[in-house]
Amino acid sequence: MIDIAQVRRDTPGCETFIHFDNAGASPMPDPVFRAVTDHMAAERALGGYEAERRAQPALECLYTGLAELLNAAPDEIAYAENATRAWNMAVYALPWAEGDRVIVHGSEYASNMLAFLHLERRHGITIDIAPSDGTGQIDVDALERMITAKTKLISLVHVPTQGGLVNPAAAVGDAARRHGVTYALDACQSVGQMAVDVGKIGCDILTCTGRKYLRGPRGTGFLYIRRDLANRLDPPFIDLHAANWSAERSFDIAPAARRFENYESNVAGRIGLARAVAYARKVGIASIEARIESLAQELRQTLNAIRGVTLQDLGARTCGIVTFTIDQVDPIAVRDVLFQKGISTSVSLVNHARLDLGRRETGPVLRASVHYFNTEGEIERFGAAVARIALNTSTQTENLSS
Ligand SMILES: *Cc1c(COP(=O)(O)O)cnc(C)c1O
Repeated sequence: MIDIAQVRRDTPGCETFIHFDNAGASPMPDPVFRAVTDHMAAERALGGYEAERRAQPALECLYTGLAELLNAAPDEIAYAENATRAWNMAVYALPWAEGDRVIVHGSEYASNMLAFLHLERRHGITIDIAPSDGTGQIDVDALERMITAKTKLISLVHVPTQGGLVNPAAAVGDAARRHGVTYALDACQSVGQMAVDVGKIGCDILTCTGRKYLRGPRGTGFLYIRRDLANRLDPPFIDLHAANWSAERSFDIAPAARRFENYESNVAGRIGLARAVAYARKVGIASIEARIESLAQELRQTLNAIRGVTLQDLGARTCGIVTFTIDQVDPIAVRDVLFQKGISTSVSLVNHARLDLGRRETGPVLRASVHYFNTEGEIERFGAAVARIALNTSTQTENLSS
């Protein structure tokens, strides 16, 4: 059981604000905030290098903590300034050649798809799009039939940014393993929200950001990469941290995941991310997962009961991300009105999810994403605010805020 009063005390913003954009950037709990600001204070007092040396144990915790969280080894973890760069470092390191194929799904993240389009233009690779099953999640049987000798990578988003579905990541892992295809899982919205075990899932690459369900600082992220794959890959670029200049004309690339890191980074951010991982594990991932699921179901029921509101989530299994539209109302205007009322939400745009929102012709959708520190009372207040907007617009389409 989560001590809700305690986690809310650790999240002082809760007193005055309803945080329903945890899939965008969840507020840092106080221990994370303090880890960051304490390190900044140490840098001010001692200088950056001295503060970093003194913080070595805290920095090591990032690797050991993430390894334990994901069931990986510490040398299979690389820190990155965000999830996209972590993903790019691994995916651009694969030895792409003309005619190679990648399989993606409709839930693919915009930056990942942009990278594949870039690789298509640069190397002449082919992008295959696996269909969804009747529920909207990836159709694993169809995916398996699409695998050819030329398939170099399966890229899957565990939980898409633009909808509440949870893709069957482990079933895809089974298919990838059976066919010997490298499997990259974008777990930006799942790590910190639900149990994610790289052994059970069978992915070779996993990427995640710090600021979402893990509640770490902005500008942080990480890469998990299976050790033997990492050791075979040539990073897109290296520096004096990712490699050693061993003689005038030679160098050795660092072992395992370290080769995908770079030297200069936000040390306070790394310490904050390590603290966020520790905080999530202390709250308990299983409890977090259960509470988010129950709050999200309640939120869906609340929204479903409002006339003019349409839920937009797909999937056999859903999670803490709840997407919806309101008849005749611009989602961005709704987001802004809700913000004025002290509630954060966000909007998923069509050009951020062309294979999903674009194909479904939903237009942009509102996204409310709950975390374990949210409450039933907040859902009630949120539902009332949305109902007022929906009612206002059915009588008079202007002046949403009246
Ligand atoms: C947020 C997000 C990303 C990108 O993470 P950054 O840290 O902003 O690079 C990638 N994939 C998914 C599914 C996301 O939700």
